[in-house]
Amino acid sequence: MSNFIPVASPALGGNELEYVKRCVKTNWISSQGQFVNQFEEEFSSYIGTQFGVATSNGTTALHLALEALGIKENDEVIVPDLTFVATINAVLYTGATPVLVDIDKDSWNIDYKKIESKINRKTKAIIPVHLYGQPCNMEKIMEIANKYNLYVIEDCAEAHGAEYKGKKVGSFGDISCFSFFGNKIITTGEGGMCLTNNQELKEKMRIIRDHGMDPQKRYWHKKIGYNYRMTNLQAAIGVAQLERIEEILGKRETIVKIYDSYLKGVKGITLQKNFKDRKRVCWIYTILIEENKYGINRDELRDNLRKNNIETRPLFYPLHEMDIYIKYCINNDLRLSSKISEKGISLPTLLNMDDDTIRRICELIIC
Ligand SMILES: *Cc1c(COP(=O)(O)O)cnc(C)c1O
Repeated sequence: MSNFIPVASPALGGNELEYVKRCVKTNWISSQGQFVNQFEEEFSSYIGTQFGVATSNGTTALHLALEALGIKENDEVIVPDLTFVATINAVLYTGATPVLVDIDKDSWNIDYKKIESKINRKTKAIIPVHLYGQPCNMEKIMEIANKYNLYVIEDCAEAHGAEYKGKKVGSFGDISCFSFFGNKIITTGEGGMCLTNNQELKEKMRIIRDHGMDPQKRYWHKKIGYNYRMTNLQAAIGVAQLERIEEILGKRETIVKIYDSYLKGVKGITLQKNFKDRKRVCWIYTILIEENKYGINRDELRDNLRKNNIETRPLFYPLHEMDIYIKYCINNDLRLSSKISEKGISLPTLLNMDDDTIRRICELIIC
């Protein structure tokens, strides 16, 4: 039996250890320290925004963004039906009501054509999620947001470095939120960041991140805040990862090309789509399986691969299919998210994968 192949694992072969050692040797291991500032500055400039506010994880980044924008009870926030739960949970933490919108079948992202019918006087914000590294149609989403005066918070947790019309995702909305969890494109173990071009929002986020403490008067609090800070240890790893982001993205692109070369044109397999105006990045290589043409369904394929020691993952389940979120589905019009989700399978995407491993996985899929 060949070795177990996981879906994802961090690649820490650069200066990560060196920078973490520096934190330990100098005693700067909590949330104050040079690497936090450096990571905020370098990551925000990499994406193309003015300010970065590093957080303890991607979920706290989303919550921090919503809090800074003043989203609260009785407000409504538009969220795609197909995403990781953190997107909707962050809205629920504020007391606001999430409103689920179906996805588009080619991008698997929120369908901008279905947003307007969900907007009313209570709607305050849209959270587009660039799912599996595929950029949303930001031009249309920003048009709608401008027309109805809504905030846009981009959830970029799976799309570091992806571009829409030559501009990186995370530079379009009022605030964008990234995750640096262990399986994301670059990682700090746990970690996140909010980016913005708005100085006032940046300052608000810094205060809320630090218990709501008045920056001019220590231990004086005007607002109920949180401890959502990133540690210098996490940021040290982030700085080292960011040094290699182009290399990491390049390797991921190569993995996509090799997988695609084997799986393209296989009956019943749909690859992730490339749009002319977007540069997608690869978070986890994901395909759709059409049971009637492929012969077996997604879950049967997952079983076959598991028996061969290959880990896979199903696509996220649509939020409305879970009891705790069904009430945020209005008009029962969420269909494509279910249709796409049940067919989706994510395959191992490891930076140190060789061609032979990918070929072996593909041969098991094709036969
Ligand atoms: C990973 C992820 C998050 C949350 O990030 P954490 O760092 O795990 O809290 C949010 N949204 C999406 C789409 C994600 O994939």
